Amino acid sequence: MSKPAWLPFTHPITAWLLALGVVFASVVSGRAQTTPATTTTVPTAPAQPKKYQAKAPKTQPFGAKAFKASGKTTLRWLGMGGFFINSRGTNIMIDPLLNGFDMPLLITFPIAPKEVPRLDAVLLTHADNDHYSVPTTGALAGVTQAFHSTVYVDSLLQNRRLPSVGHGIGDTFQVGKVRVQLTRADHAYQNVYPGMSKRYFKQEDACGFWLETPDGTVWAPGDSRLLPEHLQYPTPDAILFDFSDSEWHFGLAGAVKIANAYPNTPLLLNHWGSVDSPDFAPFNADPEKLKKLVVNPARIQVLAPGEPLTLKRLKKLK
Ligand SMILES: [Zn+2]
Repeated sequence: MSKPAWLPFTHPITAWLLALGVVFASVVSGRAQTTPATTTTVPTAPAQPKKYQAKAPKTQPFGAKAFKASGKTTLRWLGMGGFFINSRGTNIMIDPLLNGFDMPLLITFPIAPKEVPRLDAVLLTHADNDHYSVPTTGALAGVTQAFHSTVYVDSLLQNRRLPSVGHGIGDTFQVGKVRVQLTRADHAYQNVYPGMSKRYFKQEDACGFWLETPDGTVWAPGDSRLLPEHLQYPTPDAILFDFSDSEWHFGLAGAVKIANAYPNTPLLLNHWGSVDSPDFAPFNADPEKLKKLVVNPARIQVLAPGEPLTLKRLKKLK
């Protein structure tokens, strides 16, 4: 993904909004400089209180022990949109971002890449740098058997000589004890903003992942607008829930629809509470608002980064 050289940030929407901010700031300061100097002391305006931003609970760090085999499947949010799944010794990370992000953070990461002993797979949902992190994938490459993603993200990984495989939507593959299938996502926002990217983004450049583990199914939808098929899957036992106020994500209304389509499924909220950016919708959403709107709000899991949650099969109606 290309970006104009004068932009210091690599996340496209971030870059554009911040660029607008830079332009605005320079206009304001330009006006200030043209005001004639006087001896009058102008009282400075009191600092505006910072806009409220819901923030993730305090990180619970973990280490090599979390990668050992056990008789269960454990899910851990890594902060941002990332997860670590240890399914009876099969270790998978989805969209890990553990170092080198280009915006200020509200969280500390629960593990450093150099502390990760081994991964059977890293799954990447799309090319945005809050999901496909060049620094983190580079740091994890030495301990990762294979990276799996869409055909487009695979091409980016192949260019870096990383061991990767590209898949189409609906394709399945096996990682140790876990069967993985790509689900459809709708996140090709780049085409809508003129000048954002020279490349035309296809819908299948982004995906979600459906994981069948020995202890139940987990759906990681990735970043996506709501699609009708998202409401019609077999009931998963956990959803790694893309929770964001952005119109290019489910948004609050879409989040409520998905939550209520699977009314007993635990929702592990992510993409919220991690980045210090109160005015940037993609990194903001408030779990308290969701709790008021969904059926069975007790299954909303506001996990701390690193906090373990054991996957349990839901009791399904026959
Ligand atoms: Zn994202």
